[in-house]
Amino acid sequence: RLSPLASPSATRAVLEAHGLSTKYSLGQNFLVNDAILRKIVALAELSPEDEVLEIGPGIGTLTVALLKCAGRVASVERDADLPAVLAETLAPWADRFTLVEKDALDLAAADLPFSPTKLVANLPYAVAATVVLDCFERFSGLESATVMVQKEVADRMAADPGSKNYGAYTVKLRLYAEPAGRFAVGPGNFFPPPRVESAVVRLDRRPLRDSAGDPLDARALRAACIMADAAFATRRKTLANSCKTYFAGRGREGTRVAAALPQLFECAGIDPAQRGETLSLGAFVRLGAAYRQVAE
Ligand code: SAM
Repeated sequence: RLSPLASPSATRAVLEAHGLSTKYSLGQNFLVNDAILRKIVALAELSPEDEVLEIGPGIGTLTVALLKCAGRVASVERDADLPAVLAETLAPWADRFTLVEKDALDLAAADLPFSPTKLVANLPYAVAATVVLDCFERFSGLESATVMVQKEVADRMAADPGSKNYGAYTVKLRLYAEPAGRFAVGPGNFFPPPRVESAVVRLDRRPLRDSAGDPLDARALRAACIMADAAFATRRKTLANSCKTYFAGRGREGTRVAAALPQLFECAGIDPAQRGETLSLGAFVRLGAAYRQVAE
């Protein structure tokens, strides 16, 4: 066994010993199948050089597996009832484990004892999509994320232009990372079983390049993200109308960009009569560069 906690009886026993029950509001569906843990760490390709970030350790089921396969592990947990449990279940690895008691949405680099190389987590589904994008944005040393998410989120992460799941989130995530593996996980592998299907996906950071072949810096990536939000602000409208509505509602700066949209599209070489869902990642990079010319 990779993790002695990975069974319904062991999970129930730990919770009972601490007088706890699982909290639906925090998305507490604990993994209870050791075979799934093995598949997660195999997909993540962990090595002792890795310094792993985990969001939502729960009672430590996946954390044990991470500590057996990687170097240091830092886990971020919001439930104030769980530190006492984790102090017990992770005691043998205390020298390589750090618990950060915090809401993952407020996590900053200064909260962690190292710059994480990999994110590996069975994520709380309410914040899963946001957390993955935030981690690629905030932790520049992050090479990959191997995460359990709701099946629909996995579909959005991997969507192609023109498909119904392709939206602002897809574009923003894929500016940072590309899908590198996936497997399905049914509700029966959790305690209690969630009402949704799940999937583990691996995303690898990619160095996106501009038209001159240089890697995009943080400001270029952020500008492309702004254009993704603008292009999908009103999904059924053309690019021109959606961007106009988006920027017009954003104060004086926004109004200035709205007025300059014809030049912006011209400069990016994009037909504004198209809809956002047809545009490739490269098109958003060009729109971001054009946005910086008119906005900065
Ligand atoms: N890793 C454990 C496992 O696989 O059994 C637990 C995973 S459970 C799906 C999600 C965990 O995330 C829970 O422990 C929950 O308390 C925690 N959590 C929920 N929202 C959070 C947030 N905003 N920040 C940090 N942790 C959160």
